[in-house]
Amino acid sequence: MSEIERESMEYDVVIVGAGPSGLSAAIRLKQLDADLEVVVLEKGSEVGAHILSGAVLDPCGLDALIPDWKEKGAPVSVPVTEDKFYMLGEAGKMAIPHWPMPPFMSNHGNYIVSMANVCRWMAEQAEALGVEIFPGMSCSELVYGDNGEVKGVIAGEFGKNPDGTAGPGYEPGMELHGKYVFLSEGVRGSLSKEVIAKYNLSEGKEPQKFGLGMKEIWEIDPAKHKEGRVEHTMGWPLGGNAGGGAFIYHIDNNQVYVGFVVHLNYKNPHLFPYMEFQRFKHHPHVAALLEGGKRVAYGARAISEGGYQSMPKMVAPGVALLGCSVGMVNVPRIKGNHNAMLSGKAAAEAAYEALQAGRASDELSAYETEVREGAIGKDLWKVRNVKPMWSKWGMSASLAMGGLDMWTNQLGFSFFGTMGHGKTDAASTEPASHHKPIDYPKPDGKLSFDRLTNVSFSFTNHEESQPCHLRLKDENVPVAVDYTSFAGPSQRYCPAGVYEFVEDDGKPRFVINFQNCVHCKTCDIKDPAQNITWTVPQGGDGPNYPNM
Ligand SMILES: Cc1cc2nc3c(=O)[nH]c(=O)nc-3n(C[C@H](O)[C@H](O)[C@H](O)COP(=O)(O)OP(=O)(O)OC[C@H]3O[C@@H](n4cnc5c(N)ncnc54)[C@H](O)[C@@H]3O)c2cc1C
Repeated sequence: MSEIERESMEYDVVIVGAGPSGLSAAIRLKQLDADLEVVVLEKGSEVGAHILSGAVLDPCGLDALIPDWKEKGAPVSVPVTEDKFYMLGEAGKMAIPHWPMPPFMSNHGNYIVSMANVCRWMAEQAEALGVEIFPGMSCSELVYGDNGEVKGVIAGEFGKNPDGTAGPGYEPGMELHGKYVFLSEGVRGSLSKEVIAKYNLSEGKEPQKFGLGMKEIWEIDPAKHKEGRVEHTMGWPLGGNAGGGAFIYHIDNNQVYVGFVVHLNYKNPHLFPYMEFQRFKHHPHVAALLEGGKRVAYGARAISEGGYQSMPKMVAPGVALLGCSVGMVNVPRIKGNHNAMLSGKAAAEAAYEALQAGRASDELSAYETEVREGAIGKDLWKVRNVKPMWSKWGMSASLAMGGLDMWTNQLGFSFFGTMGHGKTDAASTEPASHHKPIDYPKPDGKLSFDRLTNVSFSFTNHEESQPCHLRLKDENVPVAVDYTSFAGPSQRYCPAGVYEFVEDDGKPRFVINFQNCVHCKTCDIKDPAQNITWTVPQGGDGPNYPNM
């Protein structure tokens, strides 16, 4: 299939991914020059279909991009009215006051939103300015120019047989060429990963770190619903087994977003993040809220946690990485959408200046400077030690030391300098023989659900007659390494039940149910042997999130 002829189209800027970063870039480019040719390509069946976020939105990104967003009807209408933080024990809870934390940790002035709906609205704004947006178009390959620069992407290839040959309805897709290509694929982007490796962009940086975020939307008893209330918890059920915590956000229409994040640097391969989430909902504090309600949606997505010191170089010839393709989440605030928007704006401004000067296909170093030294860099710099402290010293010590460090950073210094993360999350996994299995209670079908039932609430669909998009570098490794040494952790770290080991004649056999994949990218991150590569399936496949 390598000699395929494709039509090509020329643009000023080609943008991969219609998340907050990509859409912000598109909007800003057209605000600066209505004549620029800008295209956004999105693998979801529609804009928002693959967007899974908490979300409490710090509106500073939106303020900078579209100052009159209120008048323009942005779906940002539920201000945070209450902000609670609890430490959970198995049966009880302790409220942690906010006053020991610096003011930027407060959620007042922020909004509870469906980011999927915010992205749908941003897409309307972009289209009104003349941006071309093509949903259902997976960008599967990069196109390089004669001098090694990124020249474009291949998008919209459909109809391959499972073995990769052309099927009866094969469509080769198109080459979309841009003077600049923006990769705004979100966390662990597949093309971004290729660019980072090809141009060695992580050299001299700390490894990127990740969490796995899982989320359900619940409709609850109106008597228990408190629009605008935000809660975060730490402690039970994860305890010392892993870092992480939970969130409960009361949006409008008697809905709550119930989310759970597990840091992926956990050591015990028996840990089952999905079941930790299910167990969390049985805590008396949470159960009391959810009882009598119903879960209406489920989804999962990795979240970048490495912070300032893990951001790779974000420009190479012809290409710039935006938002969480770089990793711009402020971990203690659990917020990345504002930085994603600001990065899109900054990349657009740098590209506009370059195009005005007659440049093309070079490095947009002004963008990188703005990210590191401007509002995004300042936001991430202050909190850069919180995640490494948690990894090294555990939750309680890091709460105290992290609080102190954020305060001193607010004043311009740190007793700790810049701490490193050390290992990747894959390398943090230890052999199963070093750890005890964990016994998880069975889901009750009321508050907790088995994985496959929940996956049906992500409305995920993949055309079965296509190649498996979860590629193994070596087909022997899952049994020889993952199963033998690590008790097959993919069976547990995947929140969608994609991976299984079944018994064939008394021997384990590895099975990949790629149809279930919710595109969270955890396998690409956590597989101990780094043997699984997540690639894009054909466009339109994957989850179909309603208002996540
Ligand atoms: C559980 C959870 C809770 C969170 N809570 C909050 C919160 O409360 N507040 C907050 O501010 N942040 C929160 N975040 C972080 C926030 O979601 C990210 O910082 C933000 O989504 C980054 O935006 P982005 O545009 O970089 O990427 P994304 O929002 O991930 O968007 C990327 C888009 O690109 C598309 N795409 C990817 N690859 C391709 C390809 N090859 N071809 C075509 N399309 C492609 C995807 O389908 C997607 O639509 C949370 C994250 C998680 C996982």
